[in-house]
Amino acid sequence: MADSTAVSDTTRLGPRQFDLDRCIHCGLCLNACPTYRELGLEMDSPRGRIYQMVQVAGGAPITPSYMEHIGLCLACRGCESACPSGVRYGKMVEDARAEIEARVPRGRVAERLRRFFFNCILESRTALTVAGTLLYIYQASGLKALMRAVGSLRMAGTLGDLAQLAPSAEPPFFFSQIGSTFPAEGVTRHRVAFLAGCIANISFARLNEATVRVLRKNGCEVVIPAGQACCGALHLHSGLREDAQRLARRNIDAVLPGGFDAIITNAAGCGSTLKEYGDLLEDDPAYAAKAKQFAGLMRDVTEFLASIELNPDMAPVDGIVTYQDSCHLAHGQRIRTAPRQLLAAIPGLKFREMRCADLCCGSAGIYNVIETEMSMRILASKMEAVNATGAAIIATANPGCMLQLKAGVRLHGSNQRVMHVVELLDEAYKGAR
Ligand code: SF4
Ligand code: SF4
Repeated sequence: MADSTAVSDTTRLGPRQFDLDRCIHCGLCLNACPTYRELGLEMDSPRGRIYQMVQVAGGAPITPSYMEHIGLCLACRGCESACPSGVRYGKMVEDARAEIEARVPRGRVAERLRRFFFNCILESRTALTVAGTLLYIYQASGLKALMRAVGSLRMAGTLGDLAQLAPSAEPPFFFSQIGSTFPAEGVTRHRVAFLAGCIANISFARLNEATVRVLRKNGCEVVIPAGQACCGALHLHSGLREDAQRLARRNIDAVLPGGFDAIITNAAGCGSTLKEYGDLLEDDPAYAAKAKQFAGLMRDVTEFLASIELNPDMAPVDGIVTYQDSCHLAHGQRIRTAPRQLLAAIPGLKFREMRCADLCCGSAGIYNVIETEMSMRILASKMEAVNATGAAIIATANPGCMLQLKAGVRLHGSNQRVMHVVELLDEAYKGAR
């Protein structure tokens, strides 16, 4: 474990004082916090974590215990929605992690592995393609199905849980579409850029294709800008702020000169970070204004579709659907109505709200891989709420949540289909042909 490290208050590392001062310790956020609900411990609640951040900002050392409590936070921002005082908890936990990252040295092997994942895998199309191909060989060999079967028997502990969570490779990968332009079907009413993500290019290639089809059905010319990169959300949530800033500059340079009406993402986790590029680059004189302009054009695909006149030419999709709010859509972007509005527009679909739909499912970026035990506890609670609705379809608006909920269905569900909202729209449009 790392050494304790004293904190200097002469630098801007760590949560800012005005953010820390906003907390009035009322405790209204406690019940909105998945880790507090599971553990019942103040130190694993938003208020408790802020208390610990205040201690560190006041000069207390960064201890292994502090890192553990900050590490166990999902950064789901459920507490932000519940807070009457406007605490920017998501920003604070990012800053706290950036401070830990800067002040606490990791072991060399751990650091190299981490750097390899963030810089050499996530940022490289070639590396992601190789990883996706290996993943495809693994799943085609039957080994993945075997691991999942063992995992679902609950005999393989964390390894079995990880097997449930592993994404699938979906060849042909969406990387081949980057740089392409797709014309609108019918009259062109909007010209939009689509950001395809990083891992999503290999694991959600069909979802990306469905997104393009649904946008085209709704009068959009869709451009997939050539120079786009990973959005930097996973870097930012892991304390790698400078890497996230570098990626933000790349995306701004790749997309902004295109003069689009909107920039679209189908991943709420990415969208939340992409909309915060203005904050991320506020101290960069060359990019601050461009970052704000970019953020102002960003739209989640559900937000965008709900804001235009939706093409009603859909066939019925029969079944009962429930909706899991993605944290970064509901809490990070305050978008709750748009996805529900789109589901209501699909003929035949019956909607049933689940209990605590906006409580995190335990996915949270790569949290489920790093904090697997807690993630699985949260997922089990989520699936109880899903099962109580009797829905045959679980809709959501974030690929990470889809992976987590699919694992939830295998472990605790009753064969529900897990779908992105745009996949349901796509199904309805295809049926109308
Ligand atoms: S971000 Fe989520 S897990 Fe973290 S303190 Fe807030 S509610 Fe709890
Ligand atoms: S609800 Fe807001 S002000 Fe109240 S304890 Fe939680 S973070 Fe602090």
